[in-house]
Amino acid sequence: MSFDTLGLSTEILRAVSEQGYTEPTPVQSQAIPAVLQGGDLLAGAQTGTGKTAGFTLPLLQRLSGAPASKGRRPVRALILTPTRELAAQVGESVSTYGKYLPLRSTVIFGGVKIGPQITKLRNGVDILVATPGRLLDHVQQGTLDLSQVEILVLDEADRMLDMGFLRDIRKILALLPKGRQNLLFSATFSNEIKRLADNLLDSPALIEVARRNTASEHVAQVVHPVDRERKRELLSHLIGGGDWQQVLVFTRTKHGANRLTKQLEQDGISAAAIHGNKSQAARTKALADFKQGKIRVLVATDIAARGLDIDQLPHVVNFELPNVPEDYVHRIGRTGRAGNEGEAMSLVCVDEHKLLRDIERLLKREIPKDVIEGFSPDPSIKAEPIPNGRNGAGRGRSGGGGQRNRAGARSGQGAGRGQGGGRRRSAVPA
Ligand code: AMP
Repeated sequence: MSFDTLGLSTEILRAVSEQGYTEPTPVQSQAIPAVLQGGDLLAGAQTGTGKTAGFTLPLLQRLSGAPASKGRRPVRALILTPTRELAAQVGESVSTYGKYLPLRSTVIFGGVKIGPQITKLRNGVDILVATPGRLLDHVQQGTLDLSQVEILVLDEADRMLDMGFLRDIRKILALLPKGRQNLLFSATFSNEIKRLADNLLDSPALIEVARRNTASEHVAQVVHPVDRERKRELLSHLIGGGDWQQVLVFTRTKHGANRLTKQLEQDGISAAAIHGNKSQAARTKALADFKQGKIRVLVATDIAARGLDIDQLPHVVNFELPNVPEDYVHRIGRTGRAGNEGEAMSLVCVDEHKLLRDIERLLKREIPKDVIEGFSPDPSIKAEPIPNGRNGAGRGRSGGGGQRNRAGARSGQGAGRGQGGGRRRSAVPA
């Protein structure tokens, strides 16, 4: 299938072809015609599937096909995302795909000055990409009017709920006009998401694309058993020995990310941390430096890394296993993207055996173990408890996107999703 048959304008097709995309991904070929028809959409798709273009392209088409009334430009499309990084990435996609259209877009998120955002909003914006907290700040200050929104997109809705944004989302929904188009994208479908979808969506088209699960046969997974105190040494050994130039490393906590970054720097390996306690400027710079190859290692916490689109990432290392097994799947989804081979390795100490078992249960397979010479674990070392590491799913995790509280248990996986592109009365199939 080619993009030409989907009903998109030549301006949009030109921008798409400049990106080098020759054919739509599965989520795009299903979502684009559905959104162009004007109805609501419930899509099961995660990062890496091409979902951003899946909602952005038809959204641009719809807005450009029916220009707004003259005068001050009201916000006509609102895209909500859970994290600042994702907001920035989606905002970039909107600009890229809309470069030949006379539409204006902007991105607003917390952690940066509000003044320039106010100026942009005052000048008129057709498409607004935002995180919920800062969006409500603008509403409260009277610098944003949402009464003309025609299309609402909730991107990574499951993550938004995980991060405690449900109340904010409800507040935002109350500010929007009734007769609008709603698009909800989520990687997982917990009962909470189903409830949200049922309240929000009217006879939505349902699409689902294969989870980038465990999945990705492009990702080789391995566990390196090692002692707790020797992980950093092993990591430096692997990076140096393999001459890895671009590695994404996950830690459980912000503090752990900072400490590891310092230690790697001491070992002569350039590294930067990305987590919720870092200023937005520092996070943006770290990501840019990493993408440009100025630093070799990006150390991230789970929430901070969510949605990061880093092309062709060859190595992902779990310096510490996540407390929540599903986060393992999200983490290793950072590698082996779009057909590239990737390698995901986990440095596992005796404290983490239960976490590893939980992950293997989720994957329904054992991950191969490989003891690196010189690093075999000392059997006399006893396991120590990990704070919130047992039965603590979803609580006490560190490393947020710096936004609001994140409470509540994690969503379930994939239950009750729809198939195909048919329309149904209820938002969520039984
Ligand atoms: P997303 O799931 O939206 O985060 O997109 C994941 C990656 O796929 C991004 O780097 C996009 O630039 C890329 N992408 C999106 N659509 C296509 C396409 N049709 N062909 C090739 N790459 C694409």
